[in-house]
Amino acid sequence: LDVIGSVEPRIAAATRQELADQRESLKLIASENYASPAVLLTMGTWFSDKYAEGTIGHRFYAGCQNVDTVETVAAEHARELFGAPYAYVQPHSGIDANLVAYWSILAHRVESPGLAKLGAKNVNELSEADWESLRHEFGNQRLLGMSLDAGGHLTHGFRPNISGKMFHQQQYGTDPETGLLDYDAVAAKAREFKPLILVAGYSAYPRRVDFAKMREIADEVGATLMVDMAHFAGLVAGKVFTGDEDPVPHAHIVTTTTHKSLRGPRGGMVLAQEEFAGDVDRGCPMVLGGPLSHMMAAKAVALAEARTEEFRGYAQRIADNAKSLADGFLSRGADLVTGGTDNHLVLLDVSSFGLTGRQAESALLDAGIVTNRNSVPNDANGAWYTSGVRLGTPALTTRGFGHGEFDRVAELIVDVLGSTQPGTTKAGGPSKASYVTGDGVAAKVKDASSEL
Ligand code: PLP
Repeated sequence: LDVIGSVEPRIAAATRQELADQRESLKLIASENYASPAVLLTMGTWFSDKYAEGTIGHRFYAGCQNVDTVETVAAEHARELFGAPYAYVQPHSGIDANLVAYWSILAHRVESPGLAKLGAKNVNELSEADWESLRHEFGNQRLLGMSLDAGGHLTHGFRPNISGKMFHQQQYGTDPETGLLDYDAVAAKAREFKPLILVAGYSAYPRRVDFAKMREIADEVGATLMVDMAHFAGLVAGKVFTGDEDPVPHAHIVTTTTHKSLRGPRGGMVLAQEEFAGDVDRGCPMVLGGPLSHMMAAKAVALAEARTEEFRGYAQRIADNAKSLADGFLSRGADLVTGGTDNHLVLLDVSSFGLTGRQAESALLDAGIVTNRNSVPNDANGAWYTSGVRLGTPALTTRGFGHGEFDRVAELIVDVLGSTQPGTTKAGGPSKASYVTGDGVAAKVKDASSEL
């Protein structure tokens, strides 16, 4: 930090402060974690300075022999850890990984006169008519994914996202009574809509998914099953999700981030069955530019960590701790979407506290508890204010929290929310953003949580 500070002191100060904040608060954001020193150090090397567009042994730049080693090792760990025939470790993020997967499914599945030529080495062979037909065929395909307020991700066909614009999209939700995925309803929608791509996976659904059933649905309608396991990749790696709950043997293509429950550097990956490998491999130049070699190196280190017995224990504790957190809420009368959890996250419906998600998130932050507001199914407050707060256990499990600590975390959260009231707007009307927490509660909770 002294070296950084000698160039730009404000960045050194912010970095120092970030460390203090991450240490002093309770990090309950379900998509965050604490990467190991080995992973953090690997991100900060001179691999950052190297360009390596292309694939292993087939680059558009000279001098890529060491990047080839890095990418080979990362892909090998990914294949072996997840039991996948093919792994592509170049995507810079989860969104990039999903774009690569969409591209490769389109390239593999859509018949278009221009397509065979697009695979050729010289794209100058394509005529204007070829390009027009490509544009038409690619822009006319259908995608069915889980809706955002049921727990899906933006990239699963959410209208304002590119995925909701490049495809004709429809969304499936969850059962209004139970909040659970209704496979018969997904199948009925798929039969009617006949998507090219069926997307499974989630950001805020607190339950496991039966991927064998999702594959049956995809097969029945001739869809390609893509599973986005960004959130729960750590639970797959740690063998907490096995059999029908492990997406890798069932999906045609699996995408993931590497920085959430998998506890690696920020980044993405695509795992694919052999038939899609050739198209995924062309992620660069079709979707990506130069890979981030330092991040691929850090992915390799994180994946090596995820192959250990220690990581398996960690993954199991993530799930056990989520149960402890959920039980802690339920025993104190709080409402949980689906009534509990069997993965790494809990979705707390804060309506019964008389609050919006925005008010709850802010009141908790004052007390040193970092969460994110989140829609609940059919949310009356919309995606900005929301009615829920999403809480995940991966980060605090890394810090060594267990059953007792998570029960106490639930107690502290209920204390804060129970003593918080909605505030008013400047004009005196009801506000969805402002709030008032009882005197001294935030400070008391901060003190209590620093003892955990
Ligand atoms: N897919 C899912 C299911 C996610 O939850 C996220 C992250 O929030 C992403 C994709 C996108 O990942 P990134 O933020 O790395 O682009």
